[in-house]
Amino acid sequence: MMAEALERAEQRRVALIGDVAHELRTPLATIAGYVEGILDGVVETDEATWALVLDEVNRLRRLTDDLQQLSRVESRQITLAPTPVDPAHLIEAAVTRLTPQFTAKNIELYVNIEPRLPPVWADSDRILQVLINLFGNALQYTPDGGRVVIGAENAGEVIRFLVQDSGIGIAAEHLPHLFERFYRVDKSRTRATGGAGIGLTICKGIVAMHGGQIWATSAGLGCGATFYFTLPLYEHHE
Ligand code: ADP
Repeated sequence: MMAEALERAEQRRVALIGDVAHELRTPLATIAGYVEGILDGVVETDEATWALVLDEVNRLRRLTDDLQQLSRVESRQITLAPTPVDPAHLIEAAVTRLTPQFTAKNIELYVNIEPRLPPVWADSDRILQVLINLFGNALQYTPDGGRVVIGAENAGEVIRFLVQDSGIGIAAEHLPHLFERFYRVDKSRTRATGGAGIGLTICKGIVAMHGGQIWATSAGLGCGATFYFTLPLYEHHE
């Protein structure tokens, strides 16, 4: 058994290195393409070119930031600063942050918070990051004219947060894998928009550090998706 477990860990490690190399390759190849074109005199050295190069550099920067955070979360190097947090405040903060982008994309936004929710035991910065990530995904995977709901409700011993969208949806076979490192449903599509499939893995790690759970449901392709996560009540935790 021990040997098998080691073998699996080794396989995951090798797969991880392969994934990281794969993620680095595309932006580096693009940057090299521009620079070579400039050196050969076939690409103009104007502002537009440098802006495109900068896009790729920023993509690499986001990737390395995400990788660093992923490794910190997975090795539990992050220390939480938990306080009693009002779930409504968290949601309002996420809404404030992303409303301009929803407006620009003409997506209807509904906030649905059960009144008088008790405070949760949470590091508010980290949980805000989780909410913004789910909220940002809903924005990204919902076409213009769609609809997104963000909310929270009491679910017994925990508060359950939800982000529901009317977007492209997720086929059943992908649902169990969404939270795995580098998992993307459609590799080519998400490549263009910059995601490496790490965001949800980081979310899962942060929620797990709080003792909560995170999961997704979808009625299938074209039917939208709903992401849920739970957090413990402060009064139960202390
Ligand atoms: P990415 O940075 O690629 O968005 P995530 O870890 O945030 O990575 O998400 C992993 C994959 O899950 C995405 O590539 C996408 O295929 C799928 N996904 C996430 N959120 C949604 C959503 N709201 N609707 C449809 N698919 C989604």
